[in-house]
Amino acid sequence: MSEYSFFGAVEKSFDKAARFTKWDPGILEQIKQCNAVYRMHFPVKIGENIEVIKAYRVQHSHHKLPCKGGIRFAMSVNLDEVMALAALMTYKCAIVNVPFAGAKGGITIDPKKYTPYDLEKITRRYTSELIKKNFIGPGIDVPAPDYGTGEREMAWIVDTYISMRPGDIDALGCVTGKPVTQGGVRGRREATGLGVFYGLREVCNMTDVMHQRGMTTGVEGKTIVVQGLGNVGYHSAKFFQDAGAKVIGLAEFEGAITNPNGLDIDAVFNHRKQTGSILNFPGATNLALSSDALELECDILIPAALENVINGQNAPRVKAKIIGEAANGPLTPEADEIFTRRGILVVPDMYLNAGGVTVSYFEWLKNLSHVRYGRMEKRFTENQNRQMLDQLEEFSGKKVTQKERDEIVHGPEEVDLVRSGLEETMIAATREIMDAWKMNPEIPDMRTAAYVVAINKVGLSYAELGIFP
Ligand code: GLU
Repeated sequence: MSEYSFFGAVEKSFDKAARFTKWDPGILEQIKQCNAVYRMHFPVKIGENIEVIKAYRVQHSHHKLPCKGGIRFAMSVNLDEVMALAALMTYKCAIVNVPFAGAKGGITIDPKKYTPYDLEKITRRYTSELIKKNFIGPGIDVPAPDYGTGEREMAWIVDTYISMRPGDIDALGCVTGKPVTQGGVRGRREATGLGVFYGLREVCNMTDVMHQRGMTTGVEGKTIVVQGLGNVGYHSAKFFQDAGAKVIGLAEFEGAITNPNGLDIDAVFNHRKQTGSILNFPGATNLALSSDALELECDILIPAALENVINGQNAPRVKAKIIGEAANGPLTPEADEIFTRRGILVVPDMYLNAGGVTVSYFEWLKNLSHVRYGRMEKRFTENQNRQMLDQLEEFSGKKVTQKERDEIVHGPEEVDLVRSGLEETMIAATREIMDAWKMNPEIPDMRTAAYVVAINKVGLSYAELGIFP
């Protein structure tokens, strides 16, 4: 069997969709290729030894600037994977109307094997390598967290950048996903999981889509299985639980657990923190293999870890009615074909997990505008709301309760505006993809419809640039 190529899978999905567009083959080829690939090796002193670290940054497209995409720390990081993830970023940004081109970075390390001190050295050195080659900057290429990285790493990156670019007034915009104290935006941490929730909720509200699969509309009461309890998986599960869905299965490296009556996400999270494992959670049944969770009977299955977890082998055994790809590339093209045949709806990664980059865009705008969201309008809005309510009360002769008054008067905080922008983005993208699918019944699945939307938008920006006739 030939080795699985993630970039090859992305190319395959692209080609499948390209035939539903009208672009010249040359434009399609330009959209598909990775524009710039930077592979680096650099030495870092770890304890008494010098370790040679292998790392990458790939800029898939330059049709808009800056380029945008996360940085992954994992042993599995390789060029093929980074190229695939960079390409997905281009399509993802296009679908949610975030004016960036796709990029991705990665360092081939196991972050658990290093102390925070060593990780800081590696991250800072990686950042200086990017600076040296002009592969980072608020108008050039803006990294963000991905698998194995988070706010802490982004804080090291921005600090390194600022110290090497003194006087750059927009330097904070060189990376997103930063802690709020270092120029981050409120609402970024949970953004990807919340975006997954908003996207799937919109799908669940579509009567025709749900009825075709013999399902009722709405999220309430739906059974959910989530694979991966990292930032994305945890928040996706949490928002579903808060909306009245039942999370009946959770999976991590060490195994999986299930409880048909529902699992409390925070309780499982704390159990794992205390015992080091998701297994043996009170009231739940252990599943021998982590991958067994993917085969549980449920309404919505959410793979939220790594790529290639559902493939030609296990796809026939998946019993979910809807699959929401919170991870990047969790399904292989073979799995896609099987689900299309079986009438299982796959809600594709490059739009469903776009909440992260959408809120990254909001963070970048905040950094460039040098002002917190809500600062200018919060009090003004509150005064207006208060006056309106006072007038209404006077005319009607009725009074609302203090709690109602507080809710009505409340002016927007940063997190309110960020979440509202994210909600609008995810709902609009879901509808745009579904409309494209409905307009052409020959399009076989939602992923292909999403690619068609993305290819058309990127193609248009090349045409508008006048690069191609
Ligand atoms: N790593 C995330 C993704 O794959 C976020 C990227 C970003 O915010 O730039 O979408």
